[in-house]
Amino acid sequence: MPDVVVVGAGPVGTLLSAELARRGVDVAVVERRRDPAAGSRAIGVHSPILAALEASGVTERLLADARRVRAGEARSGGALLGVVRFDRLSRRFPFVATLPQPATRAALAVDAPAPIVGEVEAVRAAPPRVVYRDDAGRHEIAARIVVVAAGPRSRGLLYRPGAVRVQRFPDRFVMADIPADGGDAVVHLDRTGVLESFPLPGGIRRFVAPGPADLSDGALRVRVLRAALEARGLVAEAAAVAAADGFEIRRSLAPRLRRGPVLAIGDLAHEVSPMGGQGMNLGLLDAVTLAPLLTSWIRTGRAPEDALRRWERRRVASARISGAIATGNTLLGRPMPAVPNAVRAGVLRALLATPAATLLAHAYAMGFDRDA
Ligand SMILES: Cc1cc2nc3c(=O)[nH]c(=O)nc-3n(C[C@H](O)[C@H](O)[C@H](O)COP(=O)(O)OP(=O)(O)OC[C@H]3O[C@@H](n4cnc5c(N)ncnc54)[C@H](O)[C@@H]3O)c2cc1C
Repeated sequence: MPDVVVVGAGPVGTLLSAELARRGVDVAVVERRRDPAAGSRAIGVHSPILAALEASGVTERLLADARRVRAGEARSGGALLGVVRFDRLSRRFPFVATLPQPATRAALAVDAPAPIVGEVEAVRAAPPRVVYRDDAGRHEIAARIVVVAAGPRSRGLLYRPGAVRVQRFPDRFVMADIPADGGDAVVHLDRTGVLESFPLPGGIRRFVAPGPADLSDGALRVRVLRAALEARGLVAEAAAVAAADGFEIRRSLAPRLRRGPVLAIGDLAHEVSPMGGQGMNLGLLDAVTLAPLLTSWIRTGRAPEDALRRWERRRVASARISGAIATGNTLLGRPMPAVPNAVRAGVLRALLATPAATLLAHAYAMGFDRDA
């Protein structure tokens, strides 16, 4: 019987299982996908994560493939409103490291056990165990602790329907990673809403813009993203968009992350708007701060109750802060008529000329996380 079973081998479950394995804990992972997801969602890894993973060597692997983004420009109508600098936040890692999510996951997976492929159907607390199904049938794995990192769609494994309130926003976005010239991050804020442009390794940039109400039409997603690029004079980039993904905005936060020997981390516990660029980072901090507590629990045979309560409080508070920042970022990028848009640009220009620019950088780069 393993000491710990982790459900889900996304970035968060993968990091937790690797951290436990590095500490000598016997850990098993159950993942429904035979191969890791190929698509890229999260692209930014912030300095608190890089600092937390430095001793294990993971940071070095992440940085070997990453692009180091030291600043982000805010623009409106083509004019520069100001610059948000990430190079003043951390001496050791004065940048946001960008790389595609599969590359991040691969770096996190060093030392993690290969997942057992199966769909977890139930998680039980007394005694702790998971029930999963694969091609051969139904199986059960007992363990001393179960951690569920299976994303928001599998929340039903732990919470009753309605126990976690989900806030749905009307905003829709389209995005694509396409070949484009280098430089810093750029956020355009115009009457048509935001256009975010983030550099990735290999001469690629991620572009994100407001999308159509119905995201199901692939050709429409492409047309909308092309129009957003052309409106900013990015004609070559527009021509390079062959396909675009779409995403919606949800926010949720489970009030409790632990019931006895069963814990919840990552997007299953808290979802924040992707427009904040924080969801994966938040979950990685859940994992990296939980691993030493679980290790002590396994080694001593006693749950470190006080430390676990503090961990839960800090992670819920951090998710609340991150959710607020990401929602603010989403609302700031909405389309606006000419006058409110001019006011938005004016306020931002004024703010970015003051020390508030450092606060904004701090907020974006997870600096307000309670475990940063
Ligand atoms: C468009 C977009 C852009 C984003 N950009 C950023 C960004 O720049 N920075 C950032 O920090 N975050 C970003 N995010 C958020 C980030 O992608 C998520 O926060 C992150 O993937 C959460 O990781 P996770 O491991 O908790 O969950 P997931 O990535 O959802 O992984 C859960 C895993 O569990 C498995 N699973 C689910 N149910 C079961 C089951 N019943 N049995 C077995 N296995 C199961 C799934 O197959 C999956 O592998 C973005 C999200 C989107 C949508």
